[in-house]
Amino acid sequence: MLKLNGIVKNYVMGGTTVEALKGIDIEFRRSEFVAVLGPSGCGKTTLLNIIGGLDRYTSGDLIVDGVSTKEYKDADWDIYRNKAIGFVFQTYNLIPHQTVLSNVELALTLSGVSQGERKKRAREALERVGLGDQLNKKPNQMSGGQMQRVAIARALINNPEILLADEPTGALDTETSVQIMEILKEIARDRLVIMVTHNPELAERYATRTILLLDGRVTDDSNPARADRPTGKTGKTGKLKESKNRKQPLSLLTALSLSMNNLLTKKARTILTGFAGSIGIIGIALILSLSSGMQAYIAGIERDTVTSYPLTIQSTSVDIAAMLSTMAGMRDSGEPHDMDRVYSKDVMTGMVASISEKMNSNDLAAFKTFLEKDGVLGAYTNEIQYQYDTPLYIYKADTANGPVRLHPSTITESMMPSGGMGASPMGSMMTDQSSTWQRLLDNSEVLKAQYDVLAGRLPTAWNEVVIIVDDHNEITDYSLYSLGLKDAAELRQLMLDAQAGKTSEVERSVYTYDELMGLTFKLVASTDMFESSGGGWVDHSTDDAFMAKVVDSAPEIKVTGILRQVEQSGMSGSNGAVGYTAGLMDHLLDTVNQSDIVKAQTANAELDVFTGKPFQSARAGAMPDISSLSAAQQAQFASLTAEQIAAVTNAQEAFSSSATYDDNLRKLGAADADHPSAIRIYPKDFASKGVITDTIRDYNKQMKADGNDEQVIEYTDMTGLLMSSVDGVISGISSVLIAFVAISLVVSSIMIGIITYISVLERTKEIGVLRSIGASKGDISRVFNAETLIVGFVAGALGIGITLLLCIPANAIIAALSGIKGAAQLPVTGAVTLILVSMALTFIAGLIPARMAAKKDPVVALRTE
Ligand code: ADP
Ligand code: MG
Repeated sequence: MLKLNGIVKNYVMGGTTVEALKGIDIEFRRSEFVAVLGPSGCGKTTLLNIIGGLDRYTSGDLIVDGVSTKEYKDADWDIYRNKAIGFVFQTYNLIPHQTVLSNVELALTLSGVSQGERKKRAREALERVGLGDQLNKKPNQMSGGQMQRVAIARALINNPEILLADEPTGALDTETSVQIMEILKEIARDRLVIMVTHNPELAERYATRTILLLDGRVTDDSNPARADRPTGKTGKTGKLKESKNRKQPLSLLTALSLSMNNLLTKKARTILTGFAGSIGIIGIALILSLSSGMQAYIAGIERDTVTSYPLTIQSTSVDIAAMLSTMAGMRDSGEPHDMDRVYSKDVMTGMVASISEKMNSNDLAAFKTFLEKDGVLGAYTNEIQYQYDTPLYIYKADTANGPVRLHPSTITESMMPSGGMGASPMGSMMTDQSSTWQRLLDNSEVLKAQYDVLAGRLPTAWNEVVIIVDDHNEITDYSLYSLGLKDAAELRQLMLDAQAGKTSEVERSVYTYDELMGLTFKLVASTDMFESSGGGWVDHSTDDAFMAKVVDSAPEIKVTGILRQVEQSGMSGSNGAVGYTAGLMDHLLDTVNQSDIVKAQTANAELDVFTGKPFQSARAGAMPDISSLSAAQQAQFASLTAEQIAAVTNAQEAFSSSATYDDNLRKLGAADADHPSAIRIYPKDFASKGVITDTIRDYNKQMKADGNDEQVIEYTDMTGLLMSSVDGVISGISSVLIAFVAISLVVSSIMIGIITYISVLERTKEIGVLRSIGASKGDISRVFNAETLIVGFVAGALGIGITLLLCIPANAIIAALSGIKGAAQLPVTGAVTLILVSMALTFIAGLIPARMAAKKDPVVALRTE
């Protein structure tokens, strides 16, 4: 059934050819015990390797079950070795890191037999060689004879038709040699055993046939198989044919368990390698934790403050973000100049240009109708506030020392007498944000969530207000001045002292709840400051005697409660110190709209109530109306040159708001309920905010589609704007850091590649053994790939574990330094991705060593010691 036809084997080494076999013709019977004898170097091992399919013959043919092997591919040889051949070596060649049982199982493992079946058959095979009680020993805990018996059990496990033994007793004493020979003789009863030996006596005693080999040729054969007796058709069917195409690739799980066992024998090295590999992972994971923690923190702030910071839609809005970026870009014109002249740098004009460019006017009346039509946003908002331009004038109730205006605050004016930026759009926005007097939400549920009531109660009537302190029961001194609790004159004195180089201590003021609850204010309508005289209405707001009378007769505002802001993570909900109700604003608007001066103006739209004269329709080139100016101003006016007058006129044309009917109404603070000056939308929660912005976007889309481009709404989302820029900065910094740290990942991958390469060198013998029992090249590279995958996993998992540990002190330190809790949080997806990345990188780094392992010649591998 096995026939060698003129087998020649040449080894080419550095230009010289070694003829190991010089034409061997032997035919073997299905079952016999053949001993191959011959001096060292005559080609015995080479012959066995060729018969066993480990080595390829140079010429001739090996015929298996009547089939030539000339056309065999690698896969066929793998199957042949795995199913039809069992190898026994002089040096046993057991895999040291596997138990006896796993060593025996190995061939079955490679051919994909189920675990239960494998264990059963391995146990039987070991019992057959008398080692049924040594299953869980490691090879190095056994004697030579025992190891050789394990090797025989391993060779027999697949029930091969041919057992090849290369000097199986060469390293054993006589007694054990006899035991081994007995076993082999027993095995040879029902299969072909070919044994190479140096010992002619043993061959004589046990073998049924002796072949003498000398210098690559057969010189004697004691019992040649007769050619006329066909050997291929007796008894059982050819094992090879039966098993063809049934060799499955080594399963990943098996490869993993093989590598796992190997790594476990080198625990310290594996852990050190894993640790070195984990450093890059730790770096990235830490950065990821910090950035995602910070992002979560920011999102948390946004979530917490979303109910306090409304989306604001102003009748005219400036796209601040766009404006700032334009201004930043303006700093350097970059235009090439000749350096022999001086050029203007157009900062101011550029800014004005950019303001007008980024200025956007919103049709709030249309949007209000939209909002009110079906209450579209009702379910998502705590409140929608409509704001009107009606100015809120609050005076100190006590006029004994003359009228004291508390709101709008006169503090900044008293500190900076020249006025400042009150008139610019930016200025009005800022005073709006920092105003001491803030409108409360109507929704008492939300109020209760935002504030603790320290004394008194929430306001119920329009003329009731509350005083709001922060979470430390403090009110800024700015607010105290605005409340009239402190005298602004003190501050002025302080300023003067500071300018004169004097330092003065300021004591902290303390107030009882009762003191604050006892405060009273007066609400003055802007229209009360005008008095009809002759043809027009005259402004008396700077006339103290007049104003004292107005304040005395104005309605009183009482403090009904003191509220404390509930502690929030970071931003406070409101920075105002006095909270008034929507009712107060309604009352004021009503008073203004019902005032005589407004009635006078609305009664006659043609006549300017301030001058008593008709509005000027065409103003271009017209001289300003001198009669409307005060005497002092008229005197000043007379001294102006024509050029200056033209400049003033032009400026008035650009900014004047007192020349039309609408302008007059606006100046008086009269407003139509349908035309708010701003809409503030307070979202219910973070998710609602999304719905609201989506709704506005859809509204805008609809308006555009309908061709109503002027009704498109632009809103300001201050928190969103701030947060998104912080967010952007954080992710930008993180990506840069990650890019740096990634370099260490690459370095550690290369290191793991090198360590895998060392492992390949160390396990060369094992590779040979695996190949001899039928492992394909693919199986070998899979084993090493599995190893790198495990190392990569260990590195990744170690990295993540260490990062999680490091996050604990990191969080403690950050919390101690900045009060931010949970600043470092490793996201689960990030952790999983990093472990996968680590595995992928080490896998790639190990590909080359694994391929090298697969390409190793099994014969060479087995010969290495
Ligand atoms: P034996 O097993 O009978 O001692 P071998 O079969 O190992 O002899 O070797 C036969 C001859 O082939 C020897 O001369 C040996 O040097 C040579 N040989 C064996 N393997 C190789 C190889 N891989 N490369 C080169 N020469 C080899
Ligand atoms: Mg040899």
